[in-house]
Amino acid sequence: MDNCIFCSIIQGKIPSQKVYEDDQIFAFKDINPEAPVHVLIIPKKHIASINELDEDNSQVIGHIYGAAKKIAKELGIAESGYRVVANCGSDAGQTVFHIHFHLLGGRSLNWPPG
Ligand code: 5GP
Ligand code: ZN
Repeated sequence: MDNCIFCSIIQGKIPSQKVYEDDQIFAFKDINPEAPVHVLIIPKKHIASINELDEDNSQVIGHIYGAAKKIAKELGIAESGYRVVANCGSDAGQTVFHIHFHLLGGRSLNWPPG
């Protein structure tokens, strides 16, 4: 997808700190971390948001959660706890319209979010 910052990161056109990659997904450190661990997990195929998920493209979401579990363990937050969250649309504060899952941990997280 042209003009998508996360597609450019997947392609290596924009540098990132990669933490995981396989044939379906890519995970990298958030440039503006909100917690000691803040990783973004994205599908390699461009999907704009949760609103664009359908029967054909949604299989990757389960795969993303499996990767989140592995990454959390590797980064040492599996036992202390973590949050996986996807913002959808303006009220949720979505700023990048390539679906992404924030993996946050390493501190006590507030609930409910603001
Ligand atoms: P959203 O607000 O859409 O849920 O989250 C977008 C996230 O992408 C933000 O946490 C922001 O810091 C992160 N982000 C935006 N641009 C870049 C970038 O070029 N590199 C990295 N690593 N993260 C980015
Ligand atoms: Zn994209």
